Amino acid sequence: MACAKLGGSEGIPHANLEPDDCGKPTLSARIPIAVVSGFLGAGKTTLVRRLLEEARHTGVKMAVVSNEFGELGIDQALLASPDDNYVELDGGCVCCRLSDDLIATLQQLRDRARPDWIVVETSGVALPYEVQMNLWRPPVSDWSGDDVAVVLVDAEQLEQGVDRDATFGHQVSSADLLVLNKTDLVPAERLAVHEATLRSIEPDAPILYAQHADVSADLLFPPDPEGLRARRREEARAPAPHSHTEYSTEVLEVPAGAEWEDLSTRLVQLGALRVKGFVETRDGLHLVQGVGARLECNPVEEAPPPQLVGRLVVIQRGSPARS
Ligand SMILES: [Zn+2]
Repeated sequence: MACAKLGGSEGIPHANLEPDDCGKPTLSARIPIAVVSGFLGAGKTTLVRRLLEEARHTGVKMAVVSNEFGELGIDQALLASPDDNYVELDGGCVCCRLSDDLIATLQQLRDRARPDWIVVETSGVALPYEVQMNLWRPPVSDWSGDDVAVVLVDAEQLEQGVDRDATFGHQVSSADLLVLNKTDLVPAERLAVHEATLRSIEPDAPILYAQHADVSADLLFPPDPEGLRARRREEARAPAPHSHTEYSTEVLEVPAGAEWEDLSTRLVQLGALRVKGFVETRDGLHLVQGVGARLECNPVEEAPPPQLVGRLVVIQRGSPARS
């Protein structure tokens, strides 16, 4: 399949056709899969939330596997009520530790939800190519169609030079599509510099500019006229073992009634790569999101499961912080 253009009734390529007479899914019955990746805080969950909203409008059936490095399962609360087309895998990465779980989950989702397409939202430290390799072996390869790695990049973090480690480079160089997100947070004249930086790491993938991850599903599968994506599936080898020991995750307990000023001071001192979770401050229930030095605290309209409140996932380089 050269290009799985998504969206609308003519968008997804007949993903739900019945199997042929031999019981095998025909090529047109294959289900496209987008692996949404990108460094911690780049906007992956925001993109998936937009795609789900778009799918609700177009009537396209989209299934999601969401993967968090931490143990709490915050994304599930952020991505609205879970139903039969949503599964969250926590406490590791689907590129390595949870790769068998990913395969089993994709198989179950396909059998249970019969989706038109599937999005795998990886953790912020996952390696997208290694995730894709899991799609290229049975049983997923028996029914999956075109697959792409969509890698989001936080323009502000790029401007500040803080994301530029080996994992970031690995993610960008694996991209079939790069989304330079949060372009509103950097001066417009700097965007060409950041685009050139990405281009030096990944020469071929198209680069889209985005704010608040505003990318339509139609754009996620770039044309592939030479069939390179199909060819790499056939040539796939087994993924090499790797780990993510250069990052650590811990849960910070925050008692109800905390003062935001005190809490934010404490969080800034941690120097974390990523902070995420729900807290009950003196002003009510809030979602705290920290990416590098940027810390945001916004009121929450719908309460998450009670066990998530008062707990922040903190991801850092190196061993866990002592606080
Ligand atoms: Zn991994």
